[in-house]
Amino acid sequence: MTSPVATILIVDDEVQNRKLLEALLHAESYLTLTAANGEDALAAIAQLAPDLVLLDIMMPGMNGYEVASTLKANPSTAHIPIIMLTALNDRSARLEGLKSGAEEFLTKPVDRAELSLRVRNLLRLKEYGDFLKNHSVLLEQQVQARTIDLQRFRTAMDATADAIMLVSRSSMRFIEFNATACQMLGYSREELFLVDPVTLSAGPPEYMESLYDALIAGHGTNQLAETQIRRVDGSLIDVEAHRLAQRFGTDWIIVSVLRDISERKQAQQRLQHLAHYDALTGLPNRRLFYETLKSILVQAVQGGWQVAVLYIDLDQFKNVNETLGHAVGDELLGQFSNRLVQCVRVRDAVGRLGGDEFALILAGQGQQGAALVANKIKEMLRVPFELNGHVVGVTASIGITVQPDDAVDAESLIKYADTAMYRAKQAGRNTFSFFTAQMNTDVMARLELEAALRKACDNDEFVLYYQPKVQLNSGRIVGLEALLRWRRPGHGLVAPSEFIPVLEETGLIVRVGSWVIATAGKQIGLWQACAIGPLQIAVNVASRQLIEGDLAGDVIKALADNHIAGHLLELELTESSLMDNTERTIACLQNLKQHGVQISIDDFGTGYSSLAYLRRFPIDKLKIDIAFIRDITSNPDDAAITLAIISMAHSLKMQVVAEGVETAAQLAYLREHRCDQIQGYYFSPPLALAELEQILLEQKCLPADDDMPAVAVG
Ligand code: C2E
Ligand code: MG
Ligand code: MG
Repeated sequence: MTSPVATILIVDDEVQNRKLLEALLHAESYLTLTAANGEDALAAIAQLAPDLVLLDIMMPGMNGYEVASTLKANPSTAHIPIIMLTALNDRSARLEGLKSGAEEFLTKPVDRAELSLRVRNLLRLKEYGDFLKNHSVLLEQQVQARTIDLQRFRTAMDATADAIMLVSRSSMRFIEFNATACQMLGYSREELFLVDPVTLSAGPPEYMESLYDALIAGHGTNQLAETQIRRVDGSLIDVEAHRLAQRFGTDWIIVSVLRDISERKQAQQRLQHLAHYDALTGLPNRRLFYETLKSILVQAVQGGWQVAVLYIDLDQFKNVNETLGHAVGDELLGQFSNRLVQCVRVRDAVGRLGGDEFALILAGQGQQGAALVANKIKEMLRVPFELNGHVVGVTASIGITVQPDDAVDAESLIKYADTAMYRAKQAGRNTFSFFTAQMNTDVMARLELEAALRKACDNDEFVLYYQPKVQLNSGRIVGLEALLRWRRPGHGLVAPSEFIPVLEETGLIVRVGSWVIATAGKQIGLWQACAIGPLQIAVNVASRQLIEGDLAGDVIKALADNHIAGHLLELELTESSLMDNTERTIACLQNLKQHGVQISIDDFGTGYSSLAYLRRFPIDKLKIDIAFIRDITSNPDDAAITLAIISMAHSLKMQVVAEGVETAAQLAYLREHRCDQIQGYYFSPPLALAELEQILLEQKCLPADDDMPAVAVG
C-alpha cells in the first residue's frame, strides 16, 4: 500500500533539527519540505499538501499545538497525519498534542528506527484513510446514480397503464407498486402499503400463497392469466395478470403486472348477448333457442314428458314492410313478440328464429296443449296493431311438432314444425297445422324436384310447344303461344303445372324465362326466313322476371339477334304480376312498347284488377281465362262476364282472345259476340315443333261460320 514517494513536511525552528530529520528521511527515500515556523508551515501546506507533517511543539510565534489544531480544523487538511516532536516523557505535552489532533509522538533526540517506523505506519494509515475516503465518495456517487435510476424506473412504472406490484414472499407484504396499481385498486400509496396482498385476490386466502410458490418453483411464469382483483370498495375488476418470481437474497419477490380488461370483458359479454339474443325483440335468437330446446329435451326424456314446438310465421309481414316501411315493420315485430310472450307460461320458451319467424317451446305439453296456445295466439292477433299511426291487422300461420311423437331431436322438431307451418300457409294462412309424416315425404319429393329442375337448366331439358291462336273473322292462324315443357329423364314430358310453381319459388324462372324468350325469338327468325314466313309468338312472363330479371334486355336482344320486328313478339303477363311492382313494370313495358313488342294480359278475370286500373299499362290484348269460357254456353254468369270483358276491352281498343275453346258451341258463341281470337283444343292443342310446322305449312284454318270443315284459305 505504500506509495513510492511520500512527501513529508518538517516543521522546526532549529535548523539543526531540520537537517537531521531531512537526512534521516532522505535515507528512507522520502521527499521532504521544511518550514522554520508555524506560519510558514501552514503556507507551505496550502501550496502543496504533504503526506505527513513532523511538527515541533516549541516554536516562536505559532506553536506546534496551534498548527496542529489549525490543520485538523480544516477539512481539506484534516486527513494529513501529524507526528509531534516532544521532550522525553513529557506527559502533559503529549496530552496537549493529542487534544490538538496529532496522531503520533516522537521523543527528541529522534531515534532513527523509531522515526522510520512511526512515519511508515502513519503513511500507511493515511493511505488507507485516503482509500476509504475515495471509496466512500465512489459509493456515494453510485448510490446517487442508483437513486436516479430508481426514480427513473419509478416514473416509468407510474407511467404505464398496467398496475405493477412487488410482493415479498417471506413477509407477504408489498415492497413496491406503481401509481396505476393505486388507481386501479382505489387506494392511496400509503394505504396500499398497509393492505395484505392476499386480500386483493378474489380466490381463497391460501390461493395467493400457493400461486406464488408455484411461480417460485418455475410453474406458470411468463403466462398470461385472466383473473379478478378486489378494489377498495369490494368490487371485483377483471384483469389480465402476468407474474414472475425474482430471487432477492434469501427471499423471493413476486412481480405482478396487471392489466385492466374490464372493458374488453364487457365488450365480450355484449357480443355474447348479441350472439344469443335478437337485438330488435330482445328474445333469444335461433342459436339460443336451439340450445334451450336441446336442454329441455334432455330433461323431458329423463322426466318422461312431452315437449311441443310451435313455429310461427306472420302472414302479412312482407306487405307491412313494403308498404309502410321497415321502421313500421320493426315496430310490428316488437309488439308481436310482446304479445307472444303473454300467450305462454313462464317456463315456456319464446325465440325469434329470424325475419318474421318466431318459435315456442311448450315443456310438458302435447298436441292438445299446443293447439290451445295456437288458438290463443290467433285470438290475440284479432286485436289490430297500432304502428306509428297505422292500424294494421296481422294473422299468423303456425306449425306444430311434438316430442317424442314426431321427432326426438331439436333440429328435426324445428324443421318439421317449419314444414307444418308451411302447410298452414298453403291451407290459406291464419291457421295452424300439426306435422304429419306425409309432409316429410312431400318435402323430400319437393327437394328432389328442385334439384332435378336445377339440373334441367344446365342440361337443356326444356322444350317449347306451340299452340296456335286463330283470328275469328279470317279463321287463320295469326299467332302462337309458346308453352314450356320439360323432358325430364325417366319421366317423359312434364306439364308446366307440375314445375312452373317451383321454378317461380326458387327464382329459376328468371333463367328459364330468358331462355324461352331467346328460343321463341330464334324460332321467329327461322320461320321468317323460310316458307312459313313471319309469325307472331307469345311468351308467358312470370312476375319474378319483371322484378329480378332483365326482361327488356332479354327481349331487345332476341329481336336484334334474329333481325325480327318487335310486333312479332308478344308478352303474356298476369294481372297479379302487373300489380306486384307497378312503377318498374310500367317503365319496362313502355320501353318494350317503343320497340313494337305486343303486351297481353293472361288469364284475365281471375285477378281482381279493374280495367280502369289496367289502363295505366300499355296493353294490346286481353286473354279471357278458360274458367269463363268453359261454361260460357250454359252458365249465364260466365257468359255475362265474358261479354262485359269483350265490350270493355274493345272500348279501350284492346283485342280479346278466348282461351281454352274446346267446342264448336263455344266458338260460335264467341264469334257471335265479336271475340277477336280463340285458342283451344277445338282448333289445336299445344304442339311440338315438327307437328306445328306441318299445320303451318298446310295453312290449317278454322271452319267458317257455317260449321264448314276446316279448309285451307289461300
Ligand atoms: P296459360 O298461359 O294460360 O296457357 C294456356 C294453358 O291452357 C296451357 O296449359 C294450354 O295447354 C292450356 N289449354 C289450351 N287450350 C286448352 C283447352 O282447350 N282446354 C284446356 N283444358 N286447356 C287448354 P299448359 O301448357 O299446361 O300451361 C299452363 C300454364 O303454365 C300456362 O297457362 C302458363 O301460365 C304457364 N306457362 C307455360 N309456359 C310458360 C312459360 O314459358 N313461362 C311461364 N312463366 N309460364 C308458362
Ligand atoms: Mg299464357
Ligand atoms: Mg292463360
